[in-house]
Amino acid sequence: MSFMERQAGRFRHAAGAGRALALVLTLATAAGPACAGPFKPWIDGTDAAEPATQTQRYDRDTYVIRQSLRTNFEGPFLYLLFGRDRALLLDTGAGNVKIRPAVEAVIAGWLKAHGRASIPLVVAHSHGHGDHHQGDAEFADRPDTTVVGLKPEDVAAFFGIADWPKQIATFDLGGRKLSVIPTPGHHPAHIMIYDPKTRLLLSGDTLYPGRIYVPSNRFGELQDSLDRVAAFGATHKVAWALGAHIEMSRKPGEEFPDRPPHPDEHPLELPFSALLELQAAIHGMAGKPARAVRDDFVVTPILPR
Ligand SMILES: [Zn+2]
Ligand SMILES: [Zn+2]
Repeated sequence: MSFMERQAGRFRHAAGAGRALALVLTLATAAGPACAGPFKPWIDGTDAAEPATQTQRYDRDTYVIRQSLRTNFEGPFLYLLFGRDRALLLDTGAGNVKIRPAVEAVIAGWLKAHGRASIPLVVAHSHGHGDHHQGDAEFADRPDTTVVGLKPEDVAAFFGIADWPKQIATFDLGGRKLSVIPTPGHHPAHIMIYDPKTRLLLSGDTLYPGRIYVPSNRFGELQDSLDRVAAFGATHKVAWALGAHIEMSRKPGEEFPDRPPHPDEHPLELPFSALLELQAAIHGMAGKPARAVRDDFVVTPILPR
């Protein structure tokens, strides 16, 4: 539950929904951002002494790791989700840093908290671009660990997707049945992961507060992917979409250059409405790829590939 929802609940109790909304809007305006999110501030490259990685706990079975922009300008976000039977690491970073120690620290803490000696680990990827799998080799010889390949056929085979990209697969971590949604467009092997436990949608590079890069010959594929996720969202509640980068400030539509620092960075989390806004922007192009600036993302066509 967010700060805004908590406050809304409190005020609704005391003063009725209408007045509560007015109060919340006043608070939100005074505070700047419309809604306090689930995370503390991320390392943003503004501090020369910031650590190479930062881990934040979303809940006791869900962790987010950011790689410092100072180690690589991409500053990607990685996700580590635990179930009863296995854990899933989504992405391994952009390189120029050892990522496995940060992952091992989270796993060790989780095992201790759960009185467990071990848990199998699956290392998969939001997609196959180089800024999301540079740490794969660090996991190659890790016991009880599977590293999923980077091509659409590797991803489809591992998750049991017979009809890529139309089929949405279920991947059970043990009491935690994730939905794996093929979302080619930005990259042919892109997937989004939906977690019913947290209602998080891990949206990779297909939706994040920054430049949504799409090869100009793949807008149709992206449109189909967004339609697929939008339809999924119509029947599944999404708390937040969490992507793989932040490339904008809190000022609507303002992009950072491809280097640190990122002062006054946009929050990582986006509401599901941002995905619908992206879907509408792509549909609005009617097959003619074009740059489109919105408050929370910038559609950025790149050369065909
Ligand atoms: Zn990418
Ligand atoms: Zn990326």
